[in-house]
Amino acid sequence: METCVFCRIVAGELPADVVYEDDAIIAFKDIHPEVPVHLLVIPKKHIASLAHVQTEDAGLMAQLMMALPKLAVQQGMEQGFKTRINTGRAGGQEVAHLHIHLTGRPSLK
Ligand code: AMP
Ligand code: ZN
Repeated sequence: METCVFCRIVAGELPADVVYEDDAIIAFKDIHPEVPVHLLVIPKKHIASLAHVQTEDAGLMAQLMMALPKLAVQQGMEQGFKTRINTGRAGGQEVAHLHIHLTGRPSLK
């Protein structure tokens, strides 16, 4: 059984409010949102942090980056959004599975 909480979400062993999924990545709502829109965008592959990314992960990293503006629009943030990757203990990383925080608020129409 997986012990990593985000691997357990990927495996469907833990519930999550998933807003996007493809072969390589999954995006779901943060359980403790800081702002109206707060997603976590993660690779399905377990990579402990940004500091653990290998050359072979370059394509996967590109997929993650390119999903962000699409997810932002899907969430109504056409006017802009914030992204954050906490890395390591000193960087405030609590869950040791690479994740990108995608935050903001829906644009006023
Ligand atoms: P970080 O401090 O960058 O490691 O952020 C970890 C984030 O994961 C925090 O914002 C938590 O609220 C969030 N989180 C932890 N467990 C879950 C979960 N089971 N489902 C959704 N979000 C979670
Ligand atoms: Zn994991």
